[in-house]
Amino acid sequence: PSFHDLGLSQSMLRNLDRLGFSEPTEVQSKTLPHALAGQDLIALAQTGSGKTAAFGIGLVENLRDRLFAVQALVLCPTRELADQVSKALRELARARDNIKVLTLCGGVPIGPQIGSLAHGAHIVVGTPGRIQDHLRKGTLKLDRARSVVLDEADRMLDMGFQESVEAILAEAPEDRQTLMFSATWPDSVRSLSGQFQRQPVDIRV
Ligand code: AMP
Repeated sequence: PSFHDLGLSQSMLRNLDRLGFSEPTEVQSKTLPHALAGQDLIALAQTGSGKTAAFGIGLVENLRDRLFAVQALVLCPTRELADQVSKALRELARARDNIKVLTLCGGVPIGPQIGSLAHGAHIVVGTPGRIQDHLRKGTLKLDRARSVVLDEADRMLDMGFQESVEAILAEAPEDRQTLMFSATWPDSVRSLSGQFQRQPVDIRV
């Protein structure tokens, strides 16, 4: 399999080349066709499998031109993971012009985040508690969000974020795409999928 067979834009192909990604990892070749097509999916994938680019490439490719609004939201269990995901998304987003990726995590003052949100973003990455805070305050709006990603969904639920995740998903538009990545497939993740996904494609690597 090659990135060239997946229907990616020329600029994304050049960007992947620049990043030294010569061929897709297994999770990427299985996930990308569905992610690009806007389908829901649940991928059982470990760290190191290339899961970040598996959703990141699709998010960046599917951004709408000239719409400066939050079009994608990525929820992560920890600030460390959110920072890592943001960094990876910024690299992938170099395939497009002027894409803004904003990180919103707890444990830091909320004021500067409100200022950053006022300047706008295309993709928001964050931890559930702080994302929920922003939704409550009205400083973050999800009415233009077309994709929501739950990264390390099992860990996020283990950490007690279930209610926040549910509240956030309930605020996103119903016709959005929901992508779930999880290292394991416990009942808690299964039930979240059943509640919030529509005919998800099952991917195991
Ligand atoms: P992840 O599983 O998302 O944490 O990614 C693990 C590492 O693999 C990261 O350092 C990525 O930059 C790298 N990576 C992701 N996709 C590819 C690829 N197709 N070819 C080479 N490296 C990759």
